[in-house]
Order: sequence, then structure tokens, then C-alpha cells
Amino acid sequence: MKLVRFGVHVLVALGAIAFGAPSDAGAVFDCLPPRNCQGVAQCCTKPRKELLLQIARAEMRRDFYDSKKNRDEAFAKGAWDSPNNLEKAFTQFISAHQDQAAKQKLGLPANQSYPDVPDLTTHPDCTSSIDANGAKLSITDIPKMFDDPNHPLTKANVCKEAVIAAVLHESEHQDRCEAKKRGLIKPKNEGGWARAELEDSADSERDAYAREADALRLMRKRARQRCTTAKKLAENDFKNARERVKALNLMKQPRYY
Ligand SMILES: [Zn+2]
Repeated sequence: MKLVRFGVHVLVALGAIAFGAPSDAGAVFDCLPPRNCQGVAQCCTKPRKELLLQIARAEMRRDFYDSKKNRDEAFAKGAWDSPNNLEKAFTQFISAHQDQAAKQKLGLPANQSYPDVPDLTTHPDCTSSIDANGAKLSITDIPKMFDDPNHPLTKANVCKEAVIAAVLHESEHQDRCEAKKRGLIKPKNEGGWARAELEDSADSERDAYAREADALRLMRKRARQRCTTAKKLAENDFKNARERVKALNLMKQPRYY
């Protein structure tokens, strides 16, 4: 079964309607203080709101797929086609209202649309690719993909952190795909084959969005830790040399894992 990330087509289309122009290729940006930040001012920069919006999106998407009501409704529309019906309902859900509540909470303008992460697809052979150019994608691409300005995943006006989380989302699909191949995930059999297909695809999306949200939250947590540590370093607020060395090491931690 093909697992496709939904979102960007819908949101880009809405943006084009709202502003009367196709969105130009953009460039990813940092939403958290830079890796190896120096000093309190730099390390303690507030996260950009796009990051918080992306966390809210991932959590809403996770909850959408977790919902028994949404699953039941999709199943009622046609048992054999229910994974597609659930995906259609999901597309409607995100285009209709998913951002509004989050924007209001974050103080973002309601009439502005925020691009979503680029579309990625995980295939039945458990590999993932970038929809824009069909190139294969793996978790090991993460540290270096932003060094290449022509990489399709650097071309969207979204947080770098969100792109990384999207790659981890696909990685979750890959892991699940491999686990199924090895027989480590037993298919559910309540309600027959068609229902089992729906449950499996909905579970897979729920878990992938959960990983995406967790990754974004973890990146934010690490940024907070770097801020706290930068403050301690500035004040030299350590009990002993060992603590100080630990703090210096934390500031050298790679950002994305
Ligand atoms: Zn997915």
C-alpha cells in the first residue's frame, strides 16, 4: 500500500486561491536557535511561531487518525475503499479548519496561510521518495540535505526542523513496513479484511504523525536546554569542573538527533 503525506497540495492550492498567484519556490529557515549557538542572546532566541504551528498540525493529524469516529465514518462510506475515504476526509479536515484554532492560540493572523512540509511517499518496498523529483530519501540524508541549495527539501518556506520531522515521519512508515514484512506486526482481524486494512493504514499514519510531533517537541526541548546551559556558562554557575565540561559538551551536541 502506498502511504502518502497529505497536506501540501491542498494548502498550496488554497494559498494560490487566496493570493491569486502561485507560490514561488522558497527556502527553508531555522525556527530554533542555530546549532553551536554562542552566548545567551543567540541561544535563547524564541522559537519561530511556524515551529509551534507545525507541532499543532502534527498533533491534530495524529489525533485525526487515532479517532474511532473518523475511522467508522470512512468505513461507512465504503468498506473496500475505506483507507481512501479516510484520506479524503483527512484532506477536507486540514483544508477546512485545522490551522484556525492553532493560529488563534499562537497569535498568528487567521487569513495568512503557512506552507506545509513537502510531500513524501513511502512505497510498498519500504523505501521513501520525494514527490517533487522522485529521488529516494533516507533518514541518513538529514544532516547534509540543507547544505545543498538545490535539494528539493530546501525549497519550501517551512522550518528546517519541520522538514526533518517529515523525514522522520516517513522513517516511521519505513520501520513499520519492514516490521510487517518480517511478520512482527500481526494484522488485526476484527471486522474482516477491509476493516483491518483501514485500521492498519490509520494506525500507521497516527504513529507517523506522533513521531513527527515528538521529534519537533524534542528539538524544542533541546533548544531550551541549550538556552539554560548558555545562561549557566555565562554566569559560570557550576559546582565543579565536571559539570562545566558536561555543559560544554551539551553545547556541542548535534542538533537533529
Ligand atoms: Zn504518512
